[in-house]
Amino acid sequence: MLQTADVISELKKLIIKSEKPYDLDAVDRAITAACKAHEGQRRSSGEAYVCHPLKVACILVELGMDSETIEAAILHDVVEDTPMELADVQKHFGAEVATLVDGVTKIEKIPFSSREEQQAENVRKMLLAMSQDIRVIIIKLADRLHNMRTSDAWPPQKRRDKAKETMDIYAPLAHRLGIRAVKEELEDTALRFLDPAAYSEIESQLILRKDERDKFLSMIRERLTERLNAEGMHFYLESRGKSIYGIYRKTIMQNRKVYIQGRDFDEIFDVYALRVIVDTVNECYNVLGVVHDMFRPIPNRFKDYISTPKANMYQSLHTTVLDKEGIPFEIQIRTWDMHYIAE
Ligand code: MN
Repeated sequence: MLQTADVISELKKLIIKSEKPYDLDAVDRAITAACKAHEGQRRSSGEAYVCHPLKVACILVELGMDSETIEAAILHDVVEDTPMELADVQKHFGAEVATLVDGVTKIEKIPFSSREEQQAENVRKMLLAMSQDIRVIIIKLADRLHNMRTSDAWPPQKRRDKAKETMDIYAPLAHRLGIRAVKEELEDTALRFLDPAAYSEIESQLILRKDERDKFLSMIRERLTERLNAEGMHFYLESRGKSIYGIYRKTIMQNRKVYIQGRDFDEIFDVYALRVIVDTVNECYNVLGVVHDMFRPIPNRFKDYISTPKANMYQSLHTTVLDKEGIPFEIQIRTWDMHYIAE
């Protein structure tokens, strides 16, 4: 079980690691105030309630949010759930933090029921309109993310309701704000309750566990970077692993069998994808040559959308290759011009 002291030190470590100019004194005072206000309250898992807002603050430090957002996150449930009042927050932490806490508290009070897609869109619009300060929504997203991460203690019906709301309202909001990591984790945690059988089928088909997937990608990145540097190339490299929900959309939602990797890897090749961006078309083909020299290409998976662009003007080279353990990954190669058109 989480200990409050451990979460406090985790938060402080993250703040120091971030090297951002946080107001450490104010953060400290927020921690003390939240601990005092939530004293005696427990979460359904049994741990001290204050662990929740502190963890939400951790998520927000990792997202690079500012000091006021962190203070507001630590205090985000005090007005709703404790004797502490908004005026107290204002007095001790200033108007900015108070406004953020107030915004989060107000969202809490909106009754959601998103049976209809249209309604979900209306709720999302209302949330955005209500929060003149976008940081309110970001705190709310981190709040929901932590609740979904720790939702195992909820009764089944509550889990499903929250999961549906997460999928219909919060994940699309995270998408709209361009916070991909949060969007994907919200979707994955929601899917776990909305379609548990499919979720575990996909998970069991993935050769590598989550942390191994991250390691695999960074290992490939490193090797590719080293080699392209050695060739004297000027390039930008980005990578991503497909989320469980991303795989779900590509397989189960399209009624296809789930074959992800390994012997049956003929279904999904882009569980891992890297993108190399260079300056000129010539360099695209040079990078392709290097990639095919380093990794074995899978036949019929090479597509030259540079010489033959897609109907929507999309241009890139796509190829799927295997690492030495036979794990497939996709590489896209394009110029900056092509990148701007594609994005
Ligand atoms: Mn909360």
